[in-house]
Amino acid sequence: MKCLQHLAWARSDRSSNDFRSDFVTIPTLPMLAAISATTLGDGDMDEDETTNSFQEYVAGLVGHEASLLVMSGTMGNQVALRSALTSPPHSILADHRGHIIILEGGGPSSVCGAMIKQVVPSNGHHLTLADVKKHATITESVYDCPTRVISLENTLWGTIFPLSDIRAISKWARAQTPPIHMHLDGARVWEAVAAGACTLRDMGECFDSIQMCFTKGLGAPLGSIVTGSSAFIKRAKWGRKLLGGSTRSSGVIAAPARVAIETVFLGGLLRSAQEKARYASSVWEEHGGKLQLPTETNIIWFDLEASGLRDEDFYPMSSQFGLKIGAPLYGRICFHYQISEQAFERLCEFFKAVLKKTNSPES
Ligand SMILES: *Cc1c(COP(=O)(O)O)cnc(C)c1O
Repeated sequence: MKCLQHLAWARSDRSSNDFRSDFVTIPTLPMLAAISATTLGDGDMDEDETTNSFQEYVAGLVGHEASLLVMSGTMGNQVALRSALTSPPHSILADHRGHIIILEGGGPSSVCGAMIKQVVPSNGHHLTLADVKKHATITESVYDCPTRVISLENTLWGTIFPLSDIRAISKWARAQTPPIHMHLDGARVWEAVAAGACTLRDMGECFDSIQMCFTKGLGAPLGSIVTGSSAFIKRAKWGRKLLGGSTRSSGVIAAPARVAIETVFLGGLLRSAQEKARYASSVWEEHGGKLQLPTETNIIWFDLEASGLRDEDFYPMSSQFGLKIGAPLYGRICFHYQISEQAFERLCEFFKAVLKKTNSPES
């Protein structure tokens, strides 16, 4: 692979100081090698061996019967919600900060014709069964828009949804008549597992469908997956078709995604990025910095105002330390496996320097 070092695929150093998101991770040469070695059967007709075996592999990881490769996390969520919502009137219950609400172009209303009940968690961190019971619509009078899906996110903004709360919500949802479909937006569920909060199988038991991204911390070039029962995935194929996500040589997507799971997730690389996040977060707090949310996985949500800082004190100074933070993703610092030791150390130095400014008597 020496002769390939000039390719963009060999340049993970380009994201080594980029803390804006974990989707800035650069696909690697082993992923490119997997693309060159893939079978090239037709994905739309289920004839690609690489894709089929990958879908079986991922379904097995979460303990679901089947799974379906899709182009993106947004497509995965929308395909899953559309498959679960069969006829209006229907509503989805979700945390008000959910990606399906704030970052998917209103998909649940246009793609699924669904109303969304946005719930603010009463504990300020995650939804509990009490929140769900209070806001779900389980009556079916002519005035009602019944809750047919509960859509949870784990991790949500980098925070972990406690397994005990997920289990309680799932048990209650399934005891309703008809049972309420449990969907997980698990774009970053890999991070919750890496943090030791749950296993993929735990998630598989609690949810009827799961969407997982390969392009965040795992660093694949593209792709997401939806898992569920065989009957559910049969419906999901229609949704994928309609949204333009049925592809011909789908092994081109599946092959590097498998490398991403095996090398980054199973290779323990998410965990070491999280350790850096937790350490940097403790440096921030030790020097008087305040957080909007606790640092539970790979994302630090700093609170500049509460830390006595203005945006113009913070963001321009970060670039003096050779760090990419901010535009267009303000308010957070995200860790991924391609962050270098040097950039991590410079981040800690930056935190100390910028906070010193606010705490010094002359300021
Ligand atoms: C990134 C993300 C998605 C969407 O993934 P895309 O591939 O960007 O469409 C969905 N949900 C969550 C929680 C995400 O972080």
